Amino acid sequence: MTGALPAVDGRFMMETTAALCRIPSPTGYTAVAVAYVEDRFTELGLEVRRTVRGSLVATLPGSDDHAAGGRLLSAHVDTLGAMVKEIKQNGRLRLTLIGGYDWSTIEGEYCTVHTAAGAAVTGTILTTKASYHIHGKALVELKRDEQSIEVRLDERVSTLAEVRALGIEVGDFVSLDPRTTITPNGYVKSRHLDDKACVAIFLGVAKALVETNRTPSAPSYLYVSTYEEVGHGTSAGLPDGVEEVIAVDMAAVGEGQTSDEFAATVCVKDATGPYDYALSRRLLDLARAHGIDCRTDIYTYYGSDVSQALRAGYDIRGALAGPGVDASHSFERLHQRSLEETAKLLLAYLLTA
Ligand SMILES: [Zn+2]
Repeated sequence: MTGALPAVDGRFMMETTAALCRIPSPTGYTAVAVAYVEDRFTELGLEVRRTVRGSLVATLPGSDDHAAGGRLLSAHVDTLGAMVKEIKQNGRLRLTLIGGYDWSTIEGEYCTVHTAAGAAVTGTILTTKASYHIHGKALVELKRDEQSIEVRLDERVSTLAEVRALGIEVGDFVSLDPRTTITPNGYVKSRHLDDKACVAIFLGVAKALVETNRTPSAPSYLYVSTYEEVGHGTSAGLPDGVEEVIAVDMAAVGEGQTSDEFAATVCVKDATGPYDYALSRRLLDLARAHGIDCRTDIYTYYGSDVSQALRAGYDIRGALAGPGVDASHSFERLHQRSLEETAKLLLAYLLTA
């Protein structure tokens, strides 16, 4: 046992979560978000490098002079999003989705098209029968899919040529308006809490260690991946010597789940199978020993950076832990408490031999 854990700064993690959510970073278009996180790590005095593919690897201070097997925490800064699939003859855009989610969860959402020239053209995601006064019941009965969902740009365009004149082309990234809001009673509601909340937790954990001069009990790394939502976030670039990987990713809150917006969760099994039993147990035992509100849960439609590292062939033991997020991959929300409980769990893990 390591004694008392360093205090965690919940407010800092909330504000960092909000700042990160407001930076568009659909998978494949993460450069600005990665640079933001890199700068924050550097400000804290951490040594940070980029892998060839563009993931960040931050080394926790003082942790490189141990003989123990390396420990890596991974969180992803890429999010759901879309790309322009087709510019229609009527000046509307057809989309292709990036990541696993349903068309119905973005109907009515504001969005931004990021052009190659660096322009940001805003719009709204609507169905092709959006006006109830014109389509009546046909709007209700319409199946939401790539054919029936389109983008209405906030520009005076009604032809393909007029859209192209704005610099918009097939393949441009489209980000969803996160609508990030912090409520006075400690909730943050936003798109993309998955997994920016966990990247914010990393910064909270690093800050707590740096400010108290505490040193992890093994060589330890914070890995920020950029292709998790499409299935290869941690398929390459893990530092030599890493034996344990904790994917730090949101816990799915909802009917039939133990996960909670006010707690941390250790997920022991998801769609990719069981996580390492001993490592999962260790996390749960640490939570109990430190009075951390931590649940055990199982997710049916879920994979993580650990699943991706294992599938890529890494010989590691892996576990999954994170803060409870309601309505995941949809209209997400969490409470500051879940950030704090998760940060405490990670600190307990890092500081315990
Ligand atoms: Zn995630």
